[in-house]
Amino acid sequence: MECMEYKNKGLKQIAEKFNIDFHDIDDKFPTNLETICESLDICPEFAELRDGMSGYFDAHQKKIFVNKFHSAKRICFTIAHELGHYTLGHGSSPRDEYKNYNKEQLANEYAANNFAAELLMPNEAFTQFFQENIKTKSEQSTFIEISKYFCVSEQAAKVRAFNLGLIDSL
Ligand SMILES: [Zn+2]
Repeated sequence: MECMEYKNKGLKQIAEKFNIDFHDIDDKFPTNLETICESLDICPEFAELRDGMSGYFDAHQKKIFVNKFHSAKRICFTIAHELGHYTLGHGSSPRDEYKNYNKEQLANEYAANNFAAELLMPNEAFTQFFQENIKTKSEQSTFIEISKYFCVSEQAAKVRAFNLGLIDSL
């Protein structure tokens, strides 16, 4: 089991950091955040946050708070992002607006976003799904399909496609 590679590199990072076997949920979509959170003993909590805030991770309480007013897809991305802060050892994530972040906080935000993107839309599976769909569908329909399949917002899917060099502009 141990030598078996993970296709999802985000999942691999969590598995290795916390010594948990996640092969059961590897390469299955949408990524099973519930199983991950349960295995890590983290229970995401819905909170009334102002609109500019998606959520935060409280390292002391080992808890993820998410904005209860956001859509399910945004909430999933936030949970994945906060799992990134936890896995990457950032400690509690800042509860401020982006414009007030210092350089290190910004670097951590960037890393947590990349982590979330890979966890929910792993490079290989995403690229394959995109290329399969774009053959017969318009770009817009392709992103609608991606959004359903990976359970992410169309915006997050577009950013991912752009970062992977699959589309030229956002
Ligand atoms: Zn963050």
